[in-house]
Order: sequence, then C-alpha cells, then structure tokens
Amino acid sequence: MTLDSPVAEVKGIGNKKAKLLSKLGIVTIADLIYYMPRDYETQGTSARINGLKDGEIFNISAVITGEPSIRRIKSGLNLTKFSLQDETGRVEAVFFNQPYIRKMYKNGDKVYVSGSVKKAGGHFQFTNPHMEKHGKQHMGLNPIYSLTAGLTQKTMRLTVQSAIHTVNGKLKDIFSNEFRIEHKLAELNFSVANIHFPKNEEALALSKRRLIFEELLLFNIALLERETSTKHGAEKMTISQADKQIFFNRLGYKPTNAQLRVMSEIENDLNKESPMNRLLQGDVGSGKTTPAFYAMNICINSGYQCVLMAPTEVLATQHFAGAQRIFSDAGVNMELLTGSTPTAQRRIISENIASGQTDIVIGTHAVLYDHIQFANLGLVITDEQHRFGVGQRAMLETKANAPHTLIMSATPIPRTLALILYGKTDISVIDEMPPGRQPVKTFLVPETKRTDMYGFMEKEICKGAQIFVVCPLVEDSDALDVRSSEQVYDTLQQHFSINDLALLHGRQKPQEKNDIMRRFKNKEFHILVSTTVIEVGVDVPDATIMVIENAERFGLAQLHQLRGRVGRGQKKSYCFLMSDKPDNARLCVLCKTNDGFKIAEEDLNLRGPGQFLGSKQSGMSDLYMANLIKDMNIFTQTREIAQHIKQINLKQYQLWQQTANARFSHKLVKTVIN
Ligand code: ADP
Ligand code: MG
Repeated sequence: MTLDSPVAEVKGIGNKKAKLLSKLGIVTIADLIYYMPRDYETQGTSARINGLKDGEIFNISAVITGEPSIRRIKSGLNLTKFSLQDETGRVEAVFFNQPYIRKMYKNGDKVYVSGSVKKAGGHFQFTNPHMEKHGKQHMGLNPIYSLTAGLTQKTMRLTVQSAIHTVNGKLKDIFSNEFRIEHKLAELNFSVANIHFPKNEEALALSKRRLIFEELLLFNIALLERETSTKHGAEKMTISQADKQIFFNRLGYKPTNAQLRVMSEIENDLNKESPMNRLLQGDVGSGKTTPAFYAMNICINSGYQCVLMAPTEVLATQHFAGAQRIFSDAGVNMELLTGSTPTAQRRIISENIASGQTDIVIGTHAVLYDHIQFANLGLVITDEQHRFGVGQRAMLETKANAPHTLIMSATPIPRTLALILYGKTDISVIDEMPPGRQPVKTFLVPETKRTDMYGFMEKEICKGAQIFVVCPLVEDSDALDVRSSEQVYDTLQQHFSINDLALLHGRQKPQEKNDIMRRFKNKEFHILVSTTVIEVGVDVPDATIMVIENAERFGLAQLHQLRGRVGRGQKKSYCFLMSDKPDNARLCVLCKTNDGFKIAEEDLNLRGPGQFLGSKQSGMSDLYMANLIKDMNIFTQTREIAQHIKQINLKQYQLWQQTANARFSHKLVKTVIN
C-alpha cells in the first residue's frame, strides 16, 4: 500500500464511502490524511469533580470505583450506573438502555467522561455521556471537517482515524532528526496524527507548525527553481529630452510626484539589458495609465513595438482613445485588437504587426492569438493583471525573446505574494492621488430609502451629475433574490425620463457597448445601468454617483473598484451601497475608508489569499496547510533555509526538490509505506 493507493484500501471504507469522499476531492490515502479539519471542538469545559455545575457540559478524567449497577426502570428500559471519583470528589455516570456498556469497563479503569451534568439527589450525574478509557483514544480535541451530503462528522472522524491508523509510524519524514531539532519541528507521524486528533492544544500547535513549515519549504524550493531561470538579452531603450517633453506637453496635466518617481524607475529599467519585470501598484484612480504610456513612449522612440493588454473590451477601447490623444499626430501607428475586430480587419492588423509597421498594439486577450506575431516586440504591458491568469501573461511574453514587462494592478499585495505570483519582481507604488480628488462619500442604503435616494439623484442630475447603477445580474433569476439590471432599469423608468437612461451589459454587441459608453461620456444621458462590465478601469471623469444594487453580493475589493469609477474628477462624489442584508459589517469597512490598501488587507483577512487572488493565479491552491498571509514568517524563514541548504548541502536540496516537484505539479509523493 502506498500513499497514493485508493482510499478503499483502508479498513472500513467501502465503495459507497469512497464515492462520498471523492466528492470532497479525496481519492487516495494521502488525500485523506491531508484533508485538514476546518476547526476543532473541545467536549465541554475540563474540570475536576468538585468544580462541576448543574446543567453545563464538562469533561473530566476519573477512576471507576466498584462494579456498575444495572436496574430495570420500566419494561424495556434499563439503566446502567457507574461510580466515578477523582482526588476532589465523586460523581455518577448513568446510561439508558446500553447494558453492554457494563462489560466494557471494570473497577479501577481510568476514563475520560464528557457530557452534560445534572444534579440528582444531592450529587452530580452525567447522563449518557461520552466515556472512554485512557490511552485508547484521547479526549483532547475533536476535528471538525467540511462535509458533503450523506457523510456525517462522526463517520468522517472514524474514517480519518482508520486511515491514520493504517499509515501511522510508517510515514517517511523528509527531515532528519538533526534538522528537526535545529528548527524545533515535530516528527511527521506525530504531526499527522495530532493535526486530526490533537492530544491537547500544544500538540496541535506543534503539528500545525511542522506541516506548514514543510509545505512552505517545499513551495519555496519550487519557487527558487522558477526564479533562477531569468532571461537576459532585453533591448536597451532610451529617449531624448526633446521627445520626453513632447510627451509631457501632450499629456494635458502635470504628473504627480508619485507618477514621476515611477516613470523614472521604469526609464531606468528599460535602459538595461536584463528585462524589466515591474509590478505597478496604485489605488483606483491614482493614474497608473500615465506611467504605462510613458513606458510605451520610450519603447517606440527606441524603435521597438509595444503591446498593452486589458481585461475588457470597454477598457481596451478607452486606453486606445487615450493613447490616440497622446501619440496619434506624432506619426505613431496604433492598432486596436479585440475579440470583436472583424476577421478581414484582423488580417490586415496582424500583417501590419508582423511587418513592424505597427508601433503600438492595444487590445484584449485577442492579442494573444497565435497568428499575432510581432516584428520586434520590446515591451509588454498588462493592465489589471489580477483579471488574467498567470498563464495568459506568460503567453504574451513568449511573443518576444526577452521583453520588458510592466504589470499594473489596483490590488495591493504583499511583496512575498508578488514573488509567488510574478517571480522576482520589482514593485512601484503610486501612493498619491492626482490633485483635487475628494474621498467618495459612501452610504449603506436600505430598500426603504430607495425613493429618497432617487430624489437625491434627480437633484444631482439637475446639477449635471453622471450616475452609474450597477447590478449583479443581467436578467431576473428565479433562484436568487437579486435585482437584475433589467429590473432596475424598469424601476428607474418610473422615476426618470427614458431618454436619460441606458442599459449596458456583457451580452450586447461590442459596437453597441462602445456606443453607449461614448454617449454616456458625452453626457447624452445621465444614468447608466450596468452589470460589472464597467468594474475595472473605466474612466468617466464627470461621473459622481455610484449606486450598487445588492452590494452584499460583491467582494470588498470589487466594491472598491466599482466605487473607483466615481470621484475621478474634482467634484464631490457619492457611493450608495444598496443592501438589506444584516451581514453589513463587511460593507461598513467601505463606508469608513477610501483607502484601497486597507480594504484589500481586510479582504485578505476575510477571504484568505487563495480566493482573494483567484485560484487560477498560480500554484496557490496547491497549499493545503499554509496561509500565505498568516504564515508569512514561516514563508520567509523557509525561503532562507532553502537558499542556505542549496549552498551547503546540494544533495539534501535535490532530494527535497524532487518532493517539491512532485507535490507542486499535482502528482503525489510516492512514499512506500508498507
Ligand atoms: P487608474 O490608476 O485607476 O488606472 P487612470 O490612469 O485611469 O487611473 O487615471 C484616472 C484619471 O485621472 C484619468 O481621468 C486621468 O486622466 C487622470 N489623471 C491621471 N494622472 C493625473 C494627474 N497627474 N493630474 C490630473 N489628472 C490625472
Ligand atoms: Mg486603470
């Protein structure tokens, strides 16, 4: 039997149970023993007998004194009574209709007893408690697992226990005794047993640390291997002072100090032979596009092509228009390439790109298509990086030998996480808003205040406000009690002129979407009802009100992004979070702060990094124990250890590396345990 044998080989697991387990993703024995409890429970409060209280749940350790008595109370009902004692007093344990229990214990047995305590005629009594002999099974903490229909907590516990019984003592530790002593790590077999059924809190803490340590050490080794394969031979790029000035003149505003700093960081990077790998972070509306255009300007002035990829068609179109304002009359050739570019036109565009005639390509992931080949691509920019998978970005980078890369994101992530997602990365931060911005006033609005809110909107429209109304769905759904954009659009028609409204959603033709956005920007109507297609990047400087329907259905970071669509000009802006759900503590975070970094932190805490970054973002979902935020210290520590061992004990390192490769490429460690 090996760790990757099917679970059915464990005693007590039949086909039916195996099927249920597979619903939880548990197929092999390893899956089962590494299926972590989501929590633990103690069975009541631990106490001495003289500390027991009427009506509460306790657990005690005591000795059985004398033989149990069995009494018939009524026909068909009998009662078994044990007498128990510890140094502090006596107590009884009574069991109804379990006569067999008498044979399981004898005078003098030490037992754990847990259950609710009642006062009965001057002394305390446990009724139908959980009773177990010492040493057989501990009564410390019980695991709580996530389950599936048809599988009870009790069955799951027994199943895991049986699996642990099968493997215990046979698991091969990848750490030597010396290594474990040096780093204060518990042994593997102990840790696996105690992570499920901890003897006590201390054993649990030790086991947890050990398993997290192992996981993060291996994870770091996998990362280190990826990092050492850095490329060279990027194009060195420079720009003349005069060309720089032209750019600044066309910009139409003075860059903030933060933007200027980032621009010079980028300029430095582009002037090197090793490719730039830079992550640009900045809150929504901080002006990340400006340094990106600056980088493009350097690139094309040096004679190379560049590409900017955005996650939505609306955003790509907006970037294209922005780039046209800056570059078009400078004789720069630009192409917009999206999923809706007609085939004939796409053919012409791809020819222009391949011949080198095109300088700047802006588009959605349509730029990734195989037939798009560049003549001399020097710079790759990805906007709203978190919307793409790591694979998609990597694909874009294969379009050149060693392109400089710039990735932009409003989602702030700690340096260590950036390392995991993007490899060895430099980070630039825009920590300053363009001048004149005011924080968006944010309110929680219950359904009862809807009409009042419409009244407010009406007044603001008279003053020239542009308003977004965002809904989670396009159409009504029977399953969900959620307002759809069509429904909201209908309601709004009762309050506002139909000519003042438009509906935008992902199912419309791109041409139609672009048209609506253009008319909204031109103030041809005032209220845009939309799904989350406008979530990222969209820039309508005169929009001052954002209404979000069923706000509780959105994540914090997403709400912050949506809110970032307003407050982009100098006017006072508002965000109304419509919600009647009581779980509003989360939404209150948004009412209290406009600081995206704080909100992201909160989001990370609430959801954990896997969900926060999306599981498609790298091997994060491969981690079964560690939380990259909470366990950041161990992450850093094991990273240093991995680097050190690689230097002083290559053989050991390579052994670990094999395990790491197996684990982080979804294959299982083939540890023979029999
Ligand atoms: P984001 O960081 O969210 O991508 P954008 O690059 O879309 O932000 O910029 C947001 C808005 O701020 C745009 O309308 C842009 O023209 C404007 N902007 C950017 N930088 C400045 C600046 N230094 N001064 C004034 N307005 C600016
Ligand atoms: Mg942007």
